[in-house]
Amino acid sequence: MNPADDPHAKPLPLPDADSAAFWAGLKQGRLLLQHCLDCGQVQYYQQAMCRRCQGDRLEHRAASGRGTVYSYSVVHRAPGPAFRADTPYAVLLVELAEGPRMVSSLVGADPATVHFGMQVELVLDAVSDDITLPRFRPLAPST
Ligand SMILES: [Zn+2]
Repeated sequence: MNPADDPHAKPLPLPDADSAAFWAGLKQGRLLLQHCLDCGQVQYYQQAMCRRCQGDRLEHRAASGRGTVYSYSVVHRAPGPAFRADTPYAVLLVELAEGPRMVSSLVGADPATVHFGMQVELVLDAVSDDITLPRFRPLAPST
């Protein structure tokens, strides 16, 4: 069976021309965002042109990895067999410190503790040789 057809295997992202640098960056430990050199827009996900000014002078820069929970949902009923063992888990919409929002998931904490505005930080989860997923954990309070 093709692994992609196995309902017990989690689907993995397939990098394309626009996202290849993003996935390569995560593999190297950096969450890359595109910065427009013309208008200053910071964007995720990656595209060939700026979504604000349509310029094509975009530069990848590593994000701080800090963000806040803009929205979230706690999943109790898995969307398929591959995710059954993970429930309950929290799907997050994280607003990165640089501005863009990205869908991710919570690690390192009870999903019941997630709340709007919660401070989180990036965790790199190498799920295969090629793919490292960006996940988030609660930001440890600074002392
Ligand atoms: Zn721009």
